[in-house]
Amino acid sequence: MSDTAAKVTERASTVRADNPNLMTLEGTNTWILREPGASRSVVVDPGPPDAAHLDKVLEVAGDVGLVLFTHRHFDHTESMQVFAERTGAPARATDPEYCVGAEPLVDGETIDVDGLRLGVVATPGHTSDSTCFRLLDEPSLLSGDTVLGRGTTIIAHPDGVLGPYLDSLAILRELVEEGLVERILPGHGPVIDDAGAVLDFYLEHRQERLDQVRAALDAGATDARSVVEHVYTDVDESLWGAAELSVKAQLDYLQQQT
Ligand SMILES: [Zn+2]
Repeated sequence: MSDTAAKVTERASTVRADNPNLMTLEGTNTWILREPGASRSVVVDPGPPDAAHLDKVLEVAGDVGLVLFTHRHFDHTESMQVFAERTGAPARATDPEYCVGAEPLVDGETIDVDGLRLGVVATPGHTSDSTCFRLLDEPSLLSGDTVLGRGTTIIAHPDGVLGPYLDSLAILRELVEEGLVERILPGHGPVIDDAGAVLDFYLEHRQERLDQVRAALDAGATDARSVVEHVYTDVDESLWGAAELSVKAQLDYLQQQT
């Protein structure tokens, strides 16, 4: 495998796309799943339409039986058409609107491709259609952008909503509690080996941010931008645009609480 491709578990390999930026960290992780010994694979989030990236993905994936999407953002989906043409494989997504012809995913369903068994876990929050995939025969979870390998994710207001996001984190925490998930295979950044610790950190971080937003409002902040200026002093200014989306989601959430 090349330097951007790696076998991570018995069933999961990743190829990282060359699209690094502030939001995608080192780039989008395309995940390739295959049951040991099986001929066909499942590709999750083929990523940007970069021919070199797709060549690498196909080199690892071989015969693709199914393409899955964790959510609609471009850095995960933009190659969907060219990838469908190159593989002839069907695609599935929670919101089939952006992915013409895709059969919608249903929360709780089991997908089986040549013995590879995946559980669909609806995790709205980052976007309304965010979805995680759980490997049913090993304690690994593909998290898309719901949980990142490093740092925290944004709530992409108005499509992303904080209340459902907190519920989604709690659902994932429960899967860890039940011993079903130990490892997180994220849409960006490195693999997480201690899923429970990172989910606890995410839950704490969101509460901390809410407390900071409340304090900023008490201190006289009147709109999302001024809240960002109060709260996100620890974050590089180039990320304040994204932070503003998360703040809007937090302001909506706080408004609904009162
Ligand atoms: Zn992404």
